[in-house]
Amino acid sequence: MGILEVSNVNKRFGGLQALGDVNLDVAEGTVHAIIGPNGAGKSTLLNVLVGKLIPDTGTVMFNGISVLGRKPYEINQLGISRVFQTPEIFTDLSVFENMLIPCFAKRDGAFRLHALESIAAEKQLIEKAEHMLAEVNMADKRHMIASSLSRGDKRRLEMAMCLVQEPRLLLLDEPTAGMARADTNNTIDLLNEIHEKRDITMVIIEHDMHVVFSLAKRITVLAQGTPLVEDTPENIKGHPKVKEAYLGE
Ligand code: ADP
Ligand code: MG
Repeated sequence: MGILEVSNVNKRFGGLQALGDVNLDVAEGTVHAIIGPNGAGKSTLLNVLVGKLIPDTGTVMFNGISVLGRKPYEINQLGISRVFQTPEIFTDLSVFENMLIPCFAKRDGAFRLHALESIAAEKQLIEKAEHMLAEVNMADKRHMIASSLSRGDKRRLEMAMCLVQEPRLLLLDEPTAGMARADTNNTIDLLNEIHEKRDITMVIIEHDMHVVFSLAKRITVLAQGTPLVEDTPENIKGHPKVKEAYLGE
């Protein structure tokens, strides 16, 4: 049984079948990539997973709990975090101030503290934020205003903001889109490091094959809204159906 189980999901936009009978089983602790040509339904599937879209039919179970019909913040509290194509950070705040936002949001969303407990808890949260920044090698940039960071560092900060919430599943939507090669390779290294250290499950939607083959342990190929093949990266590379789906890309 996977940590994430998508069964028979269908989604139509008018006459267009954006997702057709999608079944997907993501094993706990893996890095699972979903690839496919433009218009294959990748973003639609991701939006279903994070509660932004409700499918016409089918179920999505995370850790045995149905995700469908829950608000995005509720899904986040279940332990699913999403990294957006454009880093979602507060550009006029410092790096450290950015880190504190998810820390306090999680605390205040999850449970209420008594006044006496809150000082000790606050200290703990601050330490946690500091620790996380060090883990993504940004401790020395904690006082910088986020808008002045490089694109790669903005991504690092966003990753740290996600991870400090201790999600069990990280959803990544083209995490290197628009990046220069050096920043792309940095992000790949960072994601591999995080995966090794934290054993966190990742689902990555990605167009760039260099990124896919540098990260994924398992790959599902979507074509016209339906999974075409699912296999290891080695087997996907030479798969005739995959070559066919990408022809003309
Ligand atoms: P991908 O992310 O793989 O490029 P999408 O999931 O964005 O593909 O889109 C799948 C198909 O659904 C495309 O044909 C797209 O035009 C269509 N589509 C996506 N969102 C909508 C929408 N909100 N309304 C109508 N059609 C949509
Ligand atoms: Mg897309």
